[in-house]
Amino acid sequence: MKLLVLGLDGLSFNMLDRFDIEPEYLSTVFESGISGDLMSVDTPTTLPAWTSFATGKDPGSHGRPNMIRRLPNYERDTLETNTKDAAAYDLLDDSIFINLPGSIGRVPTGENSHLVAAMMAKDKEDAVPNHLQELDTFDDYVLDHDKAKKARPDDYFDHVCEITRRRRDFAKEAFQKYDPEVGFCLFSTPDWAGHLLSNFSDDATRGPYYRRLLETVDSCAADLAEMADNVVLMSDHGFEYKHTNIHLSDWLQEEGYLATKQNDDASRTAKLAVGTAKRLAKRSDWLFERMRQAYNYIIATDAGQSLQEAATPTIDYPNSRAWQLRYGCVFVNDDRFDHPTVDDPTELIAELQERISALTDEDGNDLFRAVLTADEAYNDPGEWTPDLIARPAPGHYPTTLESPTGGYASDTNNFNHRYRGLFAARGPLFGSGEVEGMSVVDVLPTVMHAVGQPLSPEFDGKARTDIIVEDRQPSYLASEELPTPRTREMLDDSERDQAVEDRLADLGYLE
Ligand SMILES: [Zn+2]
Repeated sequence: MKLLVLGLDGLSFNMLDRFDIEPEYLSTVFESGISGDLMSVDTPTTLPAWTSFATGKDPGSHGRPNMIRRLPNYERDTLETNTKDAAAYDLLDDSIFINLPGSIGRVPTGENSHLVAAMMAKDKEDAVPNHLQELDTFDDYVLDHDKAKKARPDDYFDHVCEITRRRRDFAKEAFQKYDPEVGFCLFSTPDWAGHLLSNFSDDATRGPYYRRLLETVDSCAADLAEMADNVVLMSDHGFEYKHTNIHLSDWLQEEGYLATKQNDDASRTAKLAVGTAKRLAKRSDWLFERMRQAYNYIIATDAGQSLQEAATPTIDYPNSRAWQLRYGCVFVNDDRFDHPTVDDPTELIAELQERISALTDEDGNDLFRAVLTADEAYNDPGEWTPDLIARPAPGHYPTTLESPTGGYASDTNNFNHRYRGLFAARGPLFGSGEVEGMSVVDVLPTVMHAVGQPLSPEFDGKARTDIIVEDRQPSYLASEELPTPRTREMLDDSERDQAVEDRLADLGYLE
């Protein structure tokens, strides 16, 4: 294999430093190759960021800026795979992508290219194409973690270590059998484990768990890296300790931008319970910390979903002017929606941008590091990109939950995503030293350029020629040479068409 990209979901240098972890193999790549921070996208979440990796486009262009969306009728909907943009497995022939989020339903157009999807797949049979289900290691392949195991951290960490090893085994067999020029395998477990760190009170407890998982990821990464001449390590976003939650919805409500409504009986009861707990928690830091931990355990289960909904204000969308979708993304209720209340969105967006930028905690510290309009955040924002993206200050997390203490900022003791992830590359194609200012959208153009492939003229990202040893400029495909994305439905249709034609031919209707 000429080049292998190893995805390390949610891994960043600050987490390795914080828990004093020096993974044997990964550290060798960091030190002897080229490495540095990798800037994620808005929002710095798994699906938007991996879709940006796969397409070389930012979420304004690929249309997946968040994990969820609101429809014109304000209903919440989960996202579907992007089906309009050519992706890595279309642009590259002789490639294998194992466990790529945001790709379910896509069929590679690259010649001898293979795709195993992740996230939003019904089960592993749905995620893995038939011919790859024939691999010996498919039986033991695990698509997703069992969230119920989170209630017992020891079992959960055993479980995610096991998932990591099985994914390595499956990727290894696929690479051996199909001998790709470019390979990709995502290890999701640093992200999953990162979220579970929130369940513990202190780093002394967290450290050994996280360290054990990273040792497993490290040795599995080393096993796959042996198969390639060049290795790229990347994450989609980083992780960090969060000391403060930001309750932007509470602010929008108190300032009259957001309307809420009466709950039905069931959620009123749940809300009452949450309200009582909140009042108790306000009186005691100790009690608040115990409740927060219990909450983190419960949230991992289905029961947690209804609790989370109960702790989220019930928004009256048709009577609101603006709301937060999640992760600091603000939408104004303009004519994209069924009951618009905003005539001049530009004016309201400017007003909100100024006011949200000015929000501080009680000590006067900014809650957000930057509040961007869609045009500022994205190269070419589509209609359904958020109107404002409020990027939280370091250590802050923009939650959709109501404030337990009443203010717009409340103390927390959590781990969650941050923008800066990591990038490293090692092998004869790459130089050494530090890479600066690289973004997730730059990875695919850089990898394609490194292996001598022409780039898509539609990429938002750039090939980072400065990290490649050979001194040459990228070449580009003509627009008409860009592969057209394919989906399983299209294949089904064309197979059906073919079957109909065959039958008609049998009957003598077609010559
Ligand atoms: Zn992620």
